[in-house]
Amino acid sequence: MIKSEMENEKVTNAAGLELFRIKYLGTKGLLKQAMGEMKNVAIEKKKEAGVLLNDLKSDLEQYFNQLQENINTGKNAEKISVIDVSLPGDPLPLGGRHPISLVQNKIIHIFQRLGFAVAEGPEIEDDWHNFTALNLPEDHPARDMQDTFFISKNPDWLLRTHTSSVQIREMEKGKLPLRIICPGRVYRNETISARAHCFFNQVEGLYIAENVSFADLKQTLYFFVKEMFGERVQIRFRPSYFPFTEPSAEMDISCLICGGKGCNVCKKTGWVEILGCGMVHPQVLENCGMDSRKYTGFAFGMGIERITMLLYEIKDLRLFSENDLRFLQQFAPAL
Ligand SMILES: [Zn+2]
Repeated sequence: MIKSEMENEKVTNAAGLELFRIKYLGTKGLLKQAMGEMKNVAIEKKKEAGVLLNDLKSDLEQYFNQLQENINTGKNAEKISVIDVSLPGDPLPLGGRHPISLVQNKIIHIFQRLGFAVAEGPEIEDDWHNFTALNLPEDHPARDMQDTFFISKNPDWLLRTHTSSVQIREMEKGKLPLRIICPGRVYRNETISARAHCFFNQVEGLYIAENVSFADLKQTLYFFVKEMFGERVQIRFRPSYFPFTEPSAEMDISCLICGGKGCNVCKKTGWVEILGCGMVHPQVLENCGMDSRKYTGFAFGMGIERITMLLYEIKDLRLFSENDLRFLQQFAPAL
């Protein structure tokens, strides 16, 4: 009788299940009551009754477990309206920083310790801030070095090709001494490959004050690479040309992969180029209303992708913008 009643019970949620448990399996439940009746059973029937009761007990427990499982898996459930607050919550996936952000932050922190402040500017620029003020007049051949995304011509609006435009904006404010780094995204019309993309990230630095010399530039960058890549790294400068600096140089570091012996990364030279730099051209200072006889300064710029590829031995630059979680999740613990 108890068994048929049990099978007619409609249990669809956790609260109903608890009522079922109290009714049949609780300390004052029907099973306990039936067991209590044993004392009234005649001795010769006791064994038979005991077997029946044991069967009933296991049936009830089995049925209870089945109901519980149905509720947990949502089977037969109308709607589980009771929220069990004691259950652990669904875990939220923890995100990580993009490798470019990790390296950018590291670069910023190193220069902040030297007193550099972060300056930012617009990604859409006018001709003056991106080219002309940087000593790249309209007919200057160096403009051909950068294929530019123009948004409009006359007046010219374009996607900045470097973050040097931010330096111009800061210099125009006229506050000296000026010691800034400018991180940000820049755009160039280049064919996308493992080593080039139409957008990438730069960090540029600028220091203008009285009596700033190339020795200051060298020491600043030497400090930076030691903090960034470790004590054992070597640097070398090669003469170069940029319209906005004079003299100009490109700086190499000793190859991190082979330690200078020569490998594929350094093309067997033992050196890897990481940035361009130089003393700010007097014309650039004058363009921003500064007295170039009184003030001097140095500037440098590097691609964050390049540094990141060196640090993590990443071989394809396109990985940074493909949003492939298999790639990005490798950096997740590096919060
Ligand atoms: Zn090497």
